[in-house]
Amino acid sequence: MFDYDVIVAGAGTGGATTAYTLAKRGHTVLLIDRKERDSIGKKTCGDALGSHHIHELRELVGIPELPKDIVEYQVNGIDLIAPDRNHRMRMAGPTTTGMSLNRLKMGQWFVGLAESAGAEVMSCTRVNKLLFKGGKVSGLKATREGESEKEFTSHIVVDATGASGLLRRQMPESSPVEREIANEDRMVAWRDIYETPDFDFETPDILEIFWNQQETRGGYTWVFPQGRNRVNVGNGVMTIDGHRNPKDIQYDFVKKTWIDTWGEIKVLDSSGGIAPIRRPIDTMVDDNFMLVGDAACQVNPVHGGGIGSSMLGGAHAGITASEALERNDTSIGSLWPYNPRYHKSYGSKQAALDIFRWFLLNVTNEDIDFAFKKQIIKASDLLDTSMTGEVKFGAGEKFKRLVAGFGKVPLLLRVSKVAKLMSDIRALYAQYPDSPKGLSAWKERLALIYDAAKVI
Ligand SMILES: Cc1cc2nc3c(=O)[nH]c(=O)nc-3n(C[C@H](O)[C@H](O)[C@H](O)COP(=O)(O)OP(=O)(O)OC[C@H]3O[C@@H](n4cnc5c(N)ncnc54)[C@H](O)[C@@H]3O)c2cc1C
Repeated sequence: MFDYDVIVAGAGTGGATTAYTLAKRGHTVLLIDRKERDSIGKKTCGDALGSHHIHELRELVGIPELPKDIVEYQVNGIDLIAPDRNHRMRMAGPTTTGMSLNRLKMGQWFVGLAESAGAEVMSCTRVNKLLFKGGKVSGLKATREGESEKEFTSHIVVDATGASGLLRRQMPESSPVEREIANEDRMVAWRDIYETPDFDFETPDILEIFWNQQETRGGYTWVFPQGRNRVNVGNGVMTIDGHRNPKDIQYDFVKKTWIDTWGEIKVLDSSGGIAPIRRPIDTMVDDNFMLVGDAACQVNPVHGGGIGSSMLGGAHAGITASEALERNDTSIGSLWPYNPRYHKSYGSKQAALDIFRWFLLNVTNEDIDFAFKKQIIKASDLLDTSMTGEVKFGAGEKFKRLVAGFGKVPLLLRVSKVAKLMSDIRALYAQYPDSPKGLSAWKERLALIYDAAKVI
């Protein structure tokens, strides 16, 4: 006999959505978080979310309307700004409308939804270790504040512990689940939230992303207003060899360039964070075990947004787990459909953008300034790429003439190569194996595409 149908470790947006989906379908769910109940949802984040994620989630699992007080400010577009800061591209349209969130209220609302649907929420409880029976996951050990460690058993355990992937890293060596993530597949970031009584943000509905390959290599600085006199400002960099500490960047480059221009500021919050920025984990299931959210690397590799995709992952994981429980079979084969379902809705685009991330890493400030100045890439092209994971702008004759005309032939060749690899990887994801048997052969083909992407 098991204590629960499913135990979800971590009550962030990913874990809470999984728990909500399962509880709503009548399963017994324990949702554990180490934070106090009132602090679940407090997290270092840019606090920005595209509305389309909420619409998709509503279609999948029927969440109610977001309460108004969760939204700090309505977002109507994103400006991408070149390193010279003289040129910008505005991405505006249905896919860039969204919101600047009150992150804590948003997290509280999602946990509340799971609780009202019937999930048991256990806060102030640290998950320590996976339990195994006959070599298969059978529950976990956790310690509630002030109490001794206890064992909790379940048919399925979901790791939704965020970027640490605490339980994923405890899977046995024989598991097909990758336990470790390469350093280069992570972003480290620093962010502050300020009130700016002396400074008015003129267009608080537009988020700003500043590119600068010298200061924030493989990442960017963001200035996300949350109203006329409030801002979430931060920077993130890829953790490649020799990368700089984002806190140092924040209080040097970002301070000099932006913060100092805002006059007196009141610090509301200040902290660092980590996010995975790669394709999803190649299999997000094993026997009686699933991964959701940052623990499954369900983050957009180019902009680092992962709230929406963690909820999408949670919904697909919850639906698949529910079907498996109804079949009385929670083996890897029975949970497997979660992989292709997630890939179809987001994972294959994520993989294509992961390839694009490697290309962006090796683009110079001069290349970016040039592309902005000559308008060889339009905002709509970039928006298209970020939404679909396809690069179309390298193929047009006009693009070729322009780039060749300015003597940027190597850049042109690289854009064509990256577009081809992005298309290859999407084709490979469309052939994701329909059972665990095909995974090794599929991963061999995947590795070839990645090897090529890293040297473009
Ligand atoms: C600096 C920064 C800026 C970002 N900006 C944005 C943005 O603007 N928009 C966007 O969409 N995404 C953004 N992201 C990414 C986004 O925050 C994450 O992708 C998303 O929160 C992932 O949700 P999750 O549920 O997987 O993990 P989390 O939200 O991290 O939740 C994990 C939960 O697990 C709990 N937990 C961890 N370990 C244990 C344990 N041992 N025992 C019990 N509980 C445990 C934690 O307390 C936490 O509540 C940003 C990330 C960073 C680092």
